[in-house]
Amino acid sequence: MVTTDTISIKVQKTATPRIKELDYNHITFGKLFSDHMFLADYANGAWGDAQILPYGPILMSPATSALHYGQAIFEGMKAYKNDKGEVSLFRPLDNHKRINISAERMAMPTIPEEVFMEGLKQLVALDKDWVPDTDGASLYIRPFIVGTDEFIGVKPSDNYRFYIITSPAGKYYNEPVKVLVETNYIRAVEGGVGYVKASGNYGRSLFPTKLAQQRGYQQIIWTDARNHRYLEESGTMNLMIVIDDVLITPPIGDTILAGITRDSVLTLARDWKMKVQERKISIDEVIDAHKRGTLEEAFGTGTAATIAHISTIGFEGKDYVLPQVSGRIFSNRVSQELENIRKGKSEDKHNWMYKVG
Ligand SMILES: *Cc1c(COP(=O)(O)O)cnc(C)c1O
Repeated sequence: MVTTDTISIKVQKTATPRIKELDYNHITFGKLFSDHMFLADYANGAWGDAQILPYGPILMSPATSALHYGQAIFEGMKAYKNDKGEVSLFRPLDNHKRINISAERMAMPTIPEEVFMEGLKQLVALDKDWVPDTDGASLYIRPFIVGTDEFIGVKPSDNYRFYIITSPAGKYYNEPVKVLVETNYIRAVEGGVGYVKASGNYGRSLFPTKLAQQRGYQQIIWTDARNHRYLEESGTMNLMIVIDDVLITPPIGDTILAGITRDSVLTLARDWKMKVQERKISIDEVIDAHKRGTLEEAFGTGTAATIAHISTIGFEGKDYVLPQVSGRIFSNRVSQELENIRKGKSEDKHNWMYKVG
């Protein structure tokens, strides 16, 4: 039992560690989970029963409410190991704030900072051997909350479970992606849930993405639900465009998720005195810039890849090819700087790294 000022976590360590299954040179994303997981339960209006136990399946009733009506939200974040072997989380307090924004929109209970942070810190400290230290590698962390009432009537669940599981992640394949501007299906709409990390947002995006992949694209650029003229996000990443040395990204709102990578990239761009605009950007403006030769860069930002360069934008049957990735000054620089900050090689001016253990 580990007791802090405010919460006590019951710890049951695994008798059969699986760390030997981890091949640091061949890590496939999201398939191998580290030895332990964290759970806390919400009942009678309060979070309790915090525990760390060996990772493994959990029995649940087939009537579990989240399975039917989608009261399910999640976060995605990473832990990094520096040259000295110290483990740090990247901006975890921002993930905590965001999961509570998601909880509120989905009529779920918010989670206190000490439950979220203590669970995270103790779990990652216990499984610190699972944090790879190779180039571009990290431990991916997946906190999530689901409704657990055994009831199939439609109403907010009275009971919930908060889980944290973790999975080693290798260097993300940084092959530039071909993206298709989607003008039929939508991801998010004003008044909807596009700004929160609700599981259903991902479920609904799979079919349109599959159709785009059948046409030879890897990802979709979502457009506004009303007119399909304004660009919103790139798959499950925030979208950024550089035109004429100006960094442009759609503003946070009902349909744009407030990405922590997005905010970090904008912060560094401003530190470097680059011109930054958070405003609507239409497909016409992008095509026009392409014609004039001023469309310099396009990329997605998110925890999994940090920066995913876009090589080609497909729109209404035409492919618009962007300049070679090797010549893209801003996205390459910001990607390297974020890696340096996370691995302790650049000064952490904004206090983004949160040391564990
Ligand atoms: C998680 C997510 C992002 C990226 O957020 P990060 O905090 O940078 O990982 C962007 N868009 C959507 C829709 C997301 O769900």
